[in-house]
Amino acid sequence: MIFQNTREFAQSLDAQDALKDYRNEFIFPKVNGKQVIYFTGNSLGLQPKRTKHYVDEIMTDWANLAVEGHFYADKPWWDYHERFAAPLSEIVGAKPTEVTVMNTLTVNLHLLMVSFYRPTQKKFKIICEEKAFPSDQYMFQSQIDFHSKSVGFNPEDALVEIKRREGEHNIRLEDILAKIEEVGEELALVLIGGVNYYTGQVFDMKTITEAGHQQGAYVGWDLAHAAGNIELHLNEWKVDFAAWCSYKYMNSGPGNASGCFVHEMHHNDSDLPRFAGWWGHNKERRFKMEPKFDPVRGAEGWQISNLPILSLAPYLASVDMFAEVGMEKLITKRNLITSYLEFILHEIANEIEGADFEIITPSNQDERGCQLSVYLHGQGRELFDRLMKNGVITDWREPNVIRLAPAPFYCSFEDMYEFGQILKKLILEK
Ligand SMILES: *Cc1c(COP(=O)(O)O)cnc(C)c1O
Repeated sequence: MIFQNTREFAQSLDAQDALKDYRNEFIFPKVNGKQVIYFTGNSLGLQPKRTKHYVDEIMTDWANLAVEGHFYADKPWWDYHERFAAPLSEIVGAKPTEVTVMNTLTVNLHLLMVSFYRPTQKKFKIICEEKAFPSDQYMFQSQIDFHSKSVGFNPEDALVEIKRREGEHNIRLEDILAKIEEVGEELALVLIGGVNYYTGQVFDMKTITEAGHQQGAYVGWDLAHAAGNIELHLNEWKVDFAAWCSYKYMNSGPGNASGCFVHEMHHNDSDLPRFAGWWGHNKERRFKMEPKFDPVRGAEGWQISNLPILSLAPYLASVDMFAEVGMEKLITKRNLITSYLEFILHEIANEIEGADFEIITPSNQDERGCQLSVYLHGQGRELFDRLMKNGVITDWREPNVIRLAPAPFYCSFEDMYEFGQILKKLILEK
């Protein structure tokens, strides 16, 4: 498609947008009385209007039924979480038994590492990407420290980061594969963000998972920036485990419950250690209060506590919306709106004197989702602050990057045009 940087053209794309009615299903904050242009759906998705109803339903059932709500609420609480397995499995390309919701993301990754990071003196290394999300870095280091003394390996050698080449912004697949081969037999676990939070680069999860398995390692994925954003086939790719948060592209609200995946090949492996609790226990016998743990055969077997229903309710609202729309339509719009934003940024970079920035996200659509990371060589932080004051909500990542994620559920093509106009004006004003 040949794009044009005009309001009429943007409006014509909106008119043809299969998701255009969903924009009105979300609540946009206002700046100076005007609805914002929201680019941070990759950090905290907007609130869907229907979410309040889902939360109110729990509050009402709690008021009217109290403890009986566990069994007699319209959506009983004891198996409330089971409503997620089918729709989430569609989103991440899994079987329903492979998916559940529980806890929060870093907690889930820690719990999954209990099962899938079991280092020995000879096989103890973890491969991750350079500049992984800070929470993941702290997680890796603490897991390594937790095991290193009792197992007997040097904690300094255990974490292997895959680096970008000098002068490049993204990590090359060939470098990841070479590193996996180089670490070889010592490799215990590969755990990488499926979409890099900083650059927006999408990794080839299928190929990397295969390569890790060839070295006898487990392979897991942090899907914080992938779930609800890109096409996933976790079952087919034979990913061992994965987890994601629900408050980014999945619009579930601040700090809300995380999703997690355990491949079916591990469901009957009674040698896998795990930290257990009563919600992972055989469902038919959960309330018999027996002493011996008998895990549910499936991702649910990794559950520990009964679930925070007030945190699940907004997630259920979101998952219902994803089920209505389907990932395919979201991805089609995502590709178009992200390309349109890229086009507008390139126009400004080429036309406006003083526009000194570059997009560091891969230009190839197969290697990116909805985020474009823009490296500001010139005005930097000060330009970011002025964008925010002018109703463009984006975020700042040190040293000099703003991330723009036009979430296809609620962003419009006209937003992209409008953003371009504001950006131009702010650069020229300087
Ligand atoms: C957002 C994000 C997290 C957040 O972790 P929480 O445990 O939900 O606070 C973790 N990892 C990555 C890669 C993220 O982008």
